[in-house]
Amino acid sequence: MINMAKPVIGPEEKQAVLEVLDSGIIAQGPRTKAFEEAFALMCTTQYAIAASSGTTALHIALLAHKIGPGDEVITSPFTFIASANSILYVGARPVFVDIDPRTFNIDARRIEDAITERTKAIMPVHLFGLSCDMEAIMKIAQKHHLAVIEDACQSHAATFKGQKVGSFGTGVFSLYPTKNITSAEGGMITTNDALIDERCRVIRNHGMRVRYYHDELGFNFRMTDVHAAIGLAQIGKLERFNAARQANARFYDENLRGVVSPYTPEGYAHVYHQYTIRVPNGQRDALRDYLKENGVGSEIYYPVPIHKQRFYVEELGYDLTLPETEKAAREVLSLPVHPSLSQQDLETVVNTVNRFMGA
Ligand SMILES: *Cc1c(COP(=O)(O)O)cnc(C)c1O
Repeated sequence: MINMAKPVIGPEEKQAVLEVLDSGIIAQGPRTKAFEEAFALMCTTQYAIAASSGTTALHIALLAHKIGPGDEVITSPFTFIASANSILYVGARPVFVDIDPRTFNIDARRIEDAITERTKAIMPVHLFGLSCDMEAIMKIAQKHHLAVIEDACQSHAATFKGQKVGSFGTGVFSLYPTKNITSAEGGMITTNDALIDERCRVIRNHGMRVRYYHDELGFNFRMTDVHAAIGLAQIGKLERFNAARQANARFYDENLRGVVSPYTPEGYAHVYHQYTIRVPNGQRDALRDYLKENGVGSEIYYPVPIHKQRFYVEELGYDLTLPETEKAAREVLSLPVHPSLSQQDLETVVNTVNRFMGA
């Protein structure tokens, strides 16, 4: 079976974990600090704050921006559930704007229509490894005095016009094993704002500035040094991993027939967290079955848009039609693109897809 994801763990990660275990400092400590510094350097931001997951990092970032009950946050309905759920955790309401069918990302041209007097922030999600249109989004945010919290959980080191995602507003990354780099579980927040940096650190650690004095409601959303040691070893390999993903994607672009390959607008660097095709004429599910029968893994990201998830419809009362998102949910299929694929794997994937499509 050619799998959808395979974390690449080498002797460096194993050695680093053993060193932490031997050091006696295994919770948040010097490795976490070193990982934060390396991450900020990669992202070209002043600060980076480690968290226990991408989800808790989103939660912290929203709290750091003082988003809460009565507030609205504009985001994409075509993403992993954590993007929107984090907005619910702070008591705010996600407002969903339809996607651009070419990029699968929030359609920046539709954002202004969704702004109300309750809107506090925009959460663009850089889906599948491709940046949103950050020029348009930052312009709207500045005009309406809105915070920008970038969900960059799938887009480590992706760029928009040469600038790293996560460095436009407040960035949030996941380090889950399927992501472009991993710390087993983990997350990271990036910012150039000293005040946001400080608030994130306090919220992450029980609202505590002075030991056992609690200024506000905080959480235990810390990263451990065991996880940070893995992340630190991985971040040194990010460039190589992303280059391998891009080379795999190029091979697919050049060789797949009868399906719609991912689109990368001029001036964007796609890091292919997923290689997501569109399968026309209602053949998506049959292609997925055919791939499986022939030993090729594939996955549907995402089969149900967030505004159609049962909890959002039945408990929260969402009653929306977002045609581009709903069409994408019916047509998309992600193919294996991770760095461990061999040339033979790539050829198997291409030949199997092309055979099914009769091309
Ligand atoms: C993975 C992911 C998250 C959540 O990250 P975890 O580390 O799994 O908590 C949030 N948003 C998006 C878009 C993701 O892909």
